[in-house]
Amino acid sequence: MSETESKNDVEVFRLRARAWLEENMPPERAEPWSHADAARWPRARELQRLLFDGGFAGICFPKAYGGQGLSLAHQQAFDEEVTPYEMPLTLNVPTFGIIAATLLEFGTEEQKKRYLPAILNGDEAWVQLLSEPTGGSDLASVMTRATPEADGFVLSGSKVWSSGAYAADYGICVARTNWDLPKHDGISVLIVKMDQPGVAVERIRGVAGDDEFCQEFFDDVWIPAANVLGEIDAGWTVVRGLLVHERNSMGGASPYVSGGGLMPLSRRDEIVALAQRLELTGEPRVRELVAEAHVLSLVQDQTSQRVTDAMMRGKLGPPAGAILRLMGARVSVRRSDIALEISGADTGVWEASNPEGGVVGKRFLARQGSELGGGSTEIQRNIISERLLEMPREPAADRGVPFSQVRRNAMPSKPRG
Ligand SMILES: Cc1cc2nc3c(=O)[nH]c(=O)nc-3n(C[C@H](O)[C@H](O)[C@H](O)COP(=O)(O)OP(=O)(O)OC[C@H]3O[C@@H](n4cnc5c(N)ncnc54)[C@H](O)[C@@H]3O)c2cc1C
Repeated sequence: MSETESKNDVEVFRLRARAWLEENMPPERAEPWSHADAARWPRARELQRLLFDGGFAGICFPKAYGGQGLSLAHQQAFDEEVTPYEMPLTLNVPTFGIIAATLLEFGTEEQKKRYLPAILNGDEAWVQLLSEPTGGSDLASVMTRATPEADGFVLSGSKVWSSGAYAADYGICVARTNWDLPKHDGISVLIVKMDQPGVAVERIRGVAGDDEFCQEFFDDVWIPAANVLGEIDAGWTVVRGLLVHERNSMGGASPYVSGGGLMPLSRRDEIVALAQRLELTGEPRVRELVAEAHVLSLVQDQTSQRVTDAMMRGKLGPPAGAILRLMGARVSVRRSDIALEISGADTGVWEASNPEGGVVGKRFLARQGSELGGGSTEIQRNIISERLLEMPREPAADRGVPFSQVRRNAMPSKPRG
């Protein structure tokens, strides 16, 4: 297809999407969903089903797995059209942007046919089971154990900080299958059905009052061999791919989203709206802050576009997602601080008399999450320095050493009860 033909094709798609959205999707909610509200999960599944039935689910996923088989330009056009409507954004991270993308990249034909359509039609939500109580940054040091049996594995151990595990049907779990190999070599990635004997999920209350995070305990959980994603003991390849999808998702550059994911930050600048609501737009300091927030979002959008383009043209490798993830976190933290400064420090304790507290105050308290989720800011800096700038690697005493001989902390494996 020529460039003109493909532009026309996107415009035809845009008009079709616009008409369908107007007819079928509910208007955007006045209040964004709170993480504390579990009702957002069934609602997201319901909205996703609408998109699926209307032929707008999984725009960049192949048709063979229930998607639309269209391009990034189609997804961007769709995202521009969905702003006035309520969309199943709850499913974007991790189910769509990280897990479905990883299944698409590494799954067998059977796995893709089994799991992707059920994600795209809203039937099944997923969770990432990566971080452990002993640490999340050094993911290759996982201690959750999957012991090989005749035609599968027995899983035992614990995962933590798993967003939305309580609402998930399946999880992608990084586990150690071979303790005699160095840490990166004895890992496998397993598909875990969450509702089965031996899986216990506990919710964790966060500082902002929500209980979205979970800790899971696996007590001799049976995992059939068909549920290995990628090669046994060579799961680190899958993990690296998954982390690339995660960084792209967190940096707003994933094409595998379900509406709204690629919308430029500067086009939905809620800080301007905040200053307007509080009737503070005439205050010189507030004007400075609003301008700073807007400039940050413009710079982030342009960086995102530049890095994504460079990655798609092969000029930057997959580790470049770390730039987006780093920038996304820094901008998000600064914008939270700006919102708090505009609305007043008392918003941080959200008195009932301060209506902004519920949104601005909660975001401020949870702001550090953006520096940790998807791998911490420090780890992104390490990736940029080592893998993009080719600076020397960090020293590591465990490199090349069989994992069974590496000194490490003990792992709790039972629920608190
Ligand atoms: C919003 C949010 C959502 C999340 N969702 C999930 C999820 O769905 N599934 C999941 O498995 N996990 C999830 N996590 C966990 C997240 O991946 C971890 O918090 C993160 O990887 C860091 O691990 P940790 O918290 O164990 O910190 P640690 O690994 O213990 O690190 C502690 C501190 O040390 C720093 N540090 C560690 N190593 C280095 C180093 N080599 N160089 C410099 N500094 C270093 C880190 O940056 C951090 O500040 C989520 C976290 C957040 C905040």
